[in-house]
Amino acid sequence: MTKRNEPEKKSGLTVLSPEDVFRFNCHQGLDCFTRCCRDITIFLTPYDTLRMKNALHISSGDFLTEYTVTMIGDTGLPVVVLKMREDDEKSCPFLTSSGCTLYPDRPWACRIYPLQPESTKLTEKAGKTYYSVMDVPFCRGLLSDSVLSLSDWIEEQGIPVYLEMEALFKKITANERLTKEKITNKKIQEMYYMACYDLDRFRRFVLESTFLERFDIEPEAVEQIKTDDVALYLFAIQWLEYGLLAQHVLKVKPNVMAAKKQELGIE
Ligand code: SF4
Ligand code: SF4
Repeated sequence: MTKRNEPEKKSGLTVLSPEDVFRFNCHQGLDCFTRCCRDITIFLTPYDTLRMKNALHISSGDFLTEYTVTMIGDTGLPVVVLKMREDDEKSCPFLTSSGCTLYPDRPWACRIYPLQPESTKLTEKAGKTYYSVMDVPFCRGLLSDSVLSLSDWIEEQGIPVYLEMEALFKKITANERLTKEKITNKKIQEMYYMACYDLDRFRRFVLESTFLERFDIEPEAVEQIKTDDVALYLFAIQWLEYGLLAQHVLKVKPNVMAAKKQELGIE
């Protein structure tokens, strides 16, 4: 690692500040070209699935069936992993000899490489994200003489929008209410999976069920989520905040509320 700005050592961790530089240059001429796209585990974020299914012009349901495997994480919430091909090399389904066919919409994990976010109590307290450079023995790009700053890399790779979307998602996944106890309720797992990953199904749920009869949603917002996937994603996060975290971010229609109170015998 170059010493133009000496990375700081915090709590036993070598971390890069935005001004720090690191060596890296990945290109087709290297003999390791595409090796990093084989036999790897790539966890997909909800925003990854949104971008990838749109780039492929298929529905979220078809994308999830064809290209992903779903597992249950430590918290009991579903996590989605990119399904590698069943060939000897377990290569990524989007890999060709000339590289990634989904490059402009590649997942966050592929964009951020060779960096990895580091989170410690210290970094969390500072309210900053720090990164370290991964140690991947076969990656020739790490031996390059080219140096680039962390902040330039983050911009060049189109990472800011991913960070923005991920921060919203973390409001759900990092919430104590969900992390205190492992979630085993299948209905909750299914609701979370639909809202986070299966956006087209979530859209049908909002527009075609009794949802809009029960919730007071601005007509402009309804129009927007009919066609805008990012608006739909933001709405899905709100719905999870309401449904899973009991936050009053959605308004129930007064007549529905009155009927519910009557049913429960509340004045
Ligand atoms: S240089 Fe590293 S990132 Fe680029 S293809 Fe080779 S292994 Fe992959
Ligand atoms: S999505 Fe693209 S960059 Fe990421 S592993 Fe697959 S081929 Fe490689």
